[in-house]
Amino acid sequence: MLALVLSLLPGLFGQASFAQPEVAADDRATIIIHPDAVFTYPGDTWIRNIHLASDGEHIYVDFHVGSVNLWAVLVFYWPEIVGVLFGLMLLVMLWRLIRRKRIIGQPHCRRCNYLLIKAQSDRCPECGLLLTPRNRVIGRPQSWRIALAASLLLAITGGYLAGRARLPREGAVSDWFHWLSPRLYDWAWHNGQQWLHQRKAWLMKIVEIDPSSGRVTRTMVQRTRGPIMGMQPTRDGDSIVIWTPTEVAQYSTETGRLLAELSLEGNPWAYQPCDPLKMMTVDPDGQTVYVALYSGSVQAWDLATGHMQEIVKLQPRGMSIYIWLQYLAGQNRLAISDSLAQYDFAHRQWDPESRSIVSEFAGTTSGAATGILLTDDGSQLFLTDYAASLVQIRDPDTGTVLDTIDAAMGDLYAAALSADGRRFFATTWRRQPAIHVCDLVAKRWIAELRGPVTQFHIRQVLLMPDGHTVIALGWNSTQGGISKIMVYDLDQLAEVGATPPNSEQ
Ligand SMILES: [Zn+2]
Repeated sequence: MLALVLSLLPGLFGQASFAQPEVAADDRATIIIHPDAVFTYPGDTWIRNIHLASDGEHIYVDFHVGSVNLWAVLVFYWPEIVGVLFGLMLLVMLWRLIRRKRIIGQPHCRRCNYLLIKAQSDRCPECGLLLTPRNRVIGRPQSWRIALAASLLLAITGGYLAGRARLPREGAVSDWFHWLSPRLYDWAWHNGQQWLHQRKAWLMKIVEIDPSSGRVTRTMVQRTRGPIMGMQPTRDGDSIVIWTPTEVAQYSTETGRLLAELSLEGNPWAYQPCDPLKMMTVDPDGQTVYVALYSGSVQAWDLATGHMQEIVKLQPRGMSIYIWLQYLAGQNRLAISDSLAQYDFAHRQWDPESRSIVSEFAGTTSGAATGILLTDDGSQLFLTDYAASLVQIRDPDTGTVLDTIDAAMGDLYAAALSADGRRFFATTWRRQPAIHVCDLVAKRWIAELRGPVTQFHIRQVLLMPDGHTVIALGWNSTQGGISKIMVYDLDQLAEVGATPPNSEQ
């Protein structure tokens, strides 16, 4: 069955566009940086997440590859398939009726049925076929097997036509097997074969990509259940934990083997019937995953034993819009933030040792908080505010506002922080999709990393450990999620005199 899963062979192309840094016209002197390279992947490939690989040089990317489920095609079109087989058998029978008859017990030419009794030559006098023993066929009594099979198929087709109103073509049977063909999907899409690309299924992969070339260096995980909402490698680099709306799964990064799988099914704290996973993070040991459900139930799941326990119930806030989980390795604490509406968010820290909340505060924003992240030492909490285009920097224990950074450029979305804590990155979503870079020492927006096409949203920003490579995931939601990976080089900032990363203060 696996042999039928045609793998996508990515012929991967990175189109490089080398651009000189340009200084924007306004007096803020923001440098505009274009991507060094833009990588696209063939076929209908969606990417939802990019993550730094454990070697610090590659990135992990989840490919959602649109495929035709061949089994589902067979299941859906079985009456047509039976009908076509019946038609073919009818043709064979018709051919036998009209062509020259073979006399029982006598030799005939295989091709033209010429009676070979008097023929002396080694070729058929009628059609010239070389008369090898195989081509001399002895006439036999008519076989009724074909007629029998055709009658059977006719009965099935007739039965289907009579009872089709009560015979569903789709159902659980379609999911019995996943024979996925990304290539057939690609072909069907480009050739308008709707009957094929309607039977779509996703082949989910986690691949390792070399960001210098865009090439896929390894396929680590392949699965047919998803979608993969997020992923996180464990600190030792031996495994990667992924999550879908209903489950988490741990895979070995070496062999791709499934190590553990925990599902939401039967979870006593889940608000039935629909309470999907909204967020997940893994502790540094890679033993416990912390998940947040849509209803606000935050739970600890033990990967080895499968034990699940609710640790915090976000109440009385009810259905939270955004929930963030971040494990602070230095403090050994779980940071839990949520934003209920346009003005209301809360942050708390949970200690796995005492199994209790050790600090908590609530605050307000003027728009939905779209990005919350803490510095590695846990001393500062950054919060991007969608409507006000403001970055708030708060003390995570008391909630005191330490600083605010005005961002007049647009609606802030995803956020990232450099490892040295000196640069803050925020993406803008609606007006001009870009990544804006803030120098936190000078408290100034110093650069704008532009996307390749304006309608591409920048979904995620990843900073490589080298301190100057920025990788972004561009995503077009209006064109079916087509994804691009963009690579930027911040060394261009040094050329125009901005503070280089990791320099002395
Ligand atoms: Zn012949």
